[in-house]
Amino acid sequence: MSGSNIRQRKEKDTSKSNIQSSNSKNPLVRRLAYYHELDEWQQDNHYIKSGYVKGTSSYLESFKSLGYLHNETVNIYSHLIPSSISFWIILYYINFQLTQYENYLGIWEKLNFLQFGLACTFFCTIFTLHPEFSKNYYRPYRSTMFILFGLSGVLPVATGVYEFGFETTKQRCGIIWLILEGFFYILGAVLYAIRFPERTTHVEEDEQSLLDNPVAGKFDIFGHSHQIFHIFVVIAAFCHWKALVQCYHYLHQNILQ
Ligand SMILES: [Zn+2]
Repeated sequence: MSGSNIRQRKEKDTSKSNIQSSNSKNPLVRRLAYYHELDEWQQDNHYIKSGYVKGTSSYLESFKSLGYLHNETVNIYSHLIPSSISFWIILYYINFQLTQYENYLGIWEKLNFLQFGLACTFFCTIFTLHPEFSKNYYRPYRSTMFILFGLSGVLPVATGVYEFGFETTKQRCGIIWLILEGFFYILGAVLYAIRFPERTTHVEEDEQSLLDNPVAGKFDIFGHSHQIFHIFVVIAAFCHWKALVQCYHYLHQNILQ
């Protein structure tokens, strides 16, 4: 079978990979791309075979991609929805919860609370958005950065345990939540780095075996490592939030006069 015949068969194989045919009459039906059709800069994970939106360099087209299903949809919404919700929760917390204490420290306390988020957002945004760092070559470095980010709380917490003992540190800084946070960050980053589970359904780059294999591309749209990483990051952020809130309550109830 010639290469072009194989490609035609692949494009008709809608049930397998949610790819819709380019010659459809329906204007709402979109043509997603296979990995091998992408420009080099977009080729990051060859275990994900299909469901790609090809780069258009258009803000409008990118915005429109929020409205249909492709292999980044879960990545987008798994951060867009929690970050939108947490924005309002943080605003509520610093305006209505922190202020309830008589020893509330005013605007500086709010800024102190916000600075953690801002610092993390700044560095992660640079690593995530800068085109240089999106190259495949930097994948292990990106994973390492997220792991270091997960571990960045270890030194101050270890010092706390050394100085005050485990029980006191548990109350002061919510150490159980911090351990859980580190666990989810690191597990997510490791799965992202080793590209699990999509690597388990990998077939060699022989197009016929790709077509014949019922599990090839099984995680393209739902369930690949980047999505699991995103979900774990959200869980880890929630753990961090719980620890931080516990710190502030402890500060007001036991340390400040
Ligand atoms: Zn991501």
